[in-house]
Amino acid sequence: MLLESCDVTVIGAGPAGVMAAWKAASSGASTILLERETDPGRKVCAEGVLGGVLSDAEIEPSSEFVANKISGAVLYAPNEKKRVNVAGEGLILDKPSFLGVLAKRASGCGAAVRYGNLIEEIGRDDGHVILKGRKSGETFTLRTKVVIGCDGVGSLLARRFFARNKYVAITALQYYMTDCTIEDETKLEIYVGHEKAPSGYIWVFPKGDGDANVGIGLKGGNARQLLDRFIAQHPKAFSKAKIGKTLAAPVPVGGEVAEFVIDNMMLCGDAAGQVIPLTGAGIHTSLVAGKVAGEVAGESVQVGDASASQLYRYVERFDRLFGERIENSLKALESFERFSDHDLNIITELLEGQDLMDMANGLKPNRAVGLLVRHPILAMKVAYQLLTS
Ligand SMILES: Cc1cc2nc3c(=O)[nH]c(=O)nc-3n(C[C@H](O)[C@H](O)[C@H](O)COP(=O)(O)OP(=O)(O)OC[C@H]3O[C@@H](n4cnc5c(N)ncnc54)[C@H](O)[C@@H]3O)c2cc1C
Repeated sequence: MLLESCDVTVIGAGPAGVMAAWKAASSGASTILLERETDPGRKVCAEGVLGGVLSDAEIEPSSEFVANKISGAVLYAPNEKKRVNVAGEGLILDKPSFLGVLAKRASGCGAAVRYGNLIEEIGRDDGHVILKGRKSGETFTLRTKVVIGCDGVGSLLARRFFARNKYVAITALQYYMTDCTIEDETKLEIYVGHEKAPSGYIWVFPKGDGDANVGIGLKGGNARQLLDRFIAQHPKAFSKAKIGKTLAAPVPVGGEVAEFVIDNMMLCGDAAGQVIPLTGAGIHTSLVAGKVAGEVAGESVQVGDASASQLYRYVERFDRLFGERIENSLKALESFERFSDHDLNIITELLEGQDLMDMANGLKPNRAVGLLVRHPILAMKVAYQLLTS
């Protein structure tokens, strides 16, 4: 059994992990990034991000990992009579390539990036963390000062060492489809309504040339049945389309966990519930969480202090950037869950596209409430649900 030591170990090479390893290694800390899969980006994702994500990831756009450029979104009311156009630039990534590029950057800065390495056990020993894992049938042991759990919804680190009260994950199912006939391949399409997707939504994210990620996120209900019904009900877009891959994975939508830092240990990204709850978007938040956690891990190695109070700087910095947005979006999700499809039809009639997107993303909820005064009963419902908690 190989025994190895390092300053910082990152578990999971998703968006959070590749950033954490990059920042920790760049600070001079000896860093190992361990990923159980043999290649980057195996987890299913619709791959959509808003503008600004790449600059937060400190990387220039490249055709190597940008599949399609997006100029806005179209949100369909439950009855599909009203289409709300939302302006705003975004990208559909080729996420496996994106993660591959970011992992290479981490390795270029000194991180040891290891695919096909599964962590199976985590314990403590004399102020250090001991990780036991397996690669190609061989076991290995690592001794590290700081461990960053970027290991997603099922995080082993979270399960062993963190309470994760109120952690809620919903099911998301996605088809990778080809030969679709999409009206405008520069627009994301979002369909809401409890009949279509209970407490969730259906998305069509075009990747260009008739390819698209078509998926559903929902609470309860039969995801496959509802997605198949949606596809059958939209023959214009899908009558010639073929389903390539079908993949499912959970999305955490319960907001940030109460505690994501303890002595020697931090949780990032999905593992910590750092997702915008109403949209289920977690690439941006995870990239930023990983970046900040990697920086803080590096600082803690430099000062020789891996206590919770030193690592807590990560919580403070991340929450300054995203804490309020995640909280506001959670309130918006909780209130939208209580609206009937009839209410949602009215809301989409009353609000401007940008207001709806801002609410979903946890930005400026008061403005949306202000706009709803044109429909007083609904306004009272929204105001009550958004502004109390
Ligand atoms: C169907 C679907 C569609 C989505 N669409 C979007 C979207 O369009 N835009 C958006 O912003 N977000 C989207 N998301 C959410 C987004 O994918 C996640 O929020 C984001 O990937 C979280 O990043 P992460 O690094 O925290 O975790 P993950 O991406 O889950 O990465 C965790 C990594 O840890 C590895 N791992 C786990 N356990 C171990 C272990 N014991 N040992 C070693 N490695 C381990 C896993 O293999 C994985 O690679 C979607 C999610 C789903 C399920």
